Amino acid sequence: MRKKIIAGNWKMNMTPSEARELCRTLLPLVKDADTEVVFCVPAIDIVPVAEEVKGTNIHVGAENLYFEDKGAYTGEISADMLLDSGVTHVIMGHSERRGYFHETDEDINRKLRKALEKGLTPIVCCGESLEQREQGICFDWVRMQIKIAFRGVSAEDAKRVVIAYEPIWAIGTGKTATAEQAQEVCKAIRDCIRELYGDDTAEAIRIQYGGSMNAGNCRELLAKPDIDGGLIGGASLKAEFAEIVNYNK
Ligand code: PEP
Repeated sequence: MRKKIIAGNWKMNMTPSEARELCRTLLPLVKDADTEVVFCVPAIDIVPVAEEVKGTNIHVGAENLYFEDKGAYTGEISADMLLDSGVTHVIMGHSERRGYFHETDEDINRKLRKALEKGLTPIVCCGESLEQREQGICFDWVRMQIKIAFRGVSAEDAKRVVIAYEPIWAIGTGKTATAEQAQEVCKAIRDCIRELYGDDTAEAIRIQYGGSMNAGNCRELLAKPDIDGGLIGGASLKAEFAEIVNYNK
């Protein structure tokens, strides 16, 4: 049985004081969740959010990490820095980072291996553009992203990874993939993991859907057999997030 994981991606929103406020609003609403709940927050909010959620069921996630351990990489943040600040999860390969900051599949592979080496739970994003979907190359594209991201990762380590399938055309657009569309790609991702690692890893790995998930559509999406959670952008900044976390109540 895979435990559902609902992660908020705050993106570049919330000053440290706003972040504390949001935690105080959300904490009482999500405290009885039986899903794994993660707040993935901007780097500067990590410490205040970790302080606010200490001793609760909330995990703190980062939105990025760098794959080197330390040194002359101005502006970057290492896995050890995240761990020492109370971070347990880290997003990598979000389409906004791929698009605006030119992150490649090879970068994501190095980040994934570093996060696993250090004991962080990686949330690896993948997904196609509208043009790729219309061209009929969605499955090939996502399989390629997964195969490169997982290069050099063992079957045991792969079980600890969370994959977030996020069609780019559904992110921040209010245009959600239908539950059937999301399920068929999440299943294709699980089949790809099965080819790479076998049944055990394929059945253990968790696959989220992300892209305009909200309180209205989450139940249908989360009922699908290969959708093990959600990565939530816009709706993670308001009380609505708690409705998604408690979708099964
Ligand atoms: C995201 O950025 O990961 C995301 C899914 O955003 P939204 O929910 O706003 O579409």
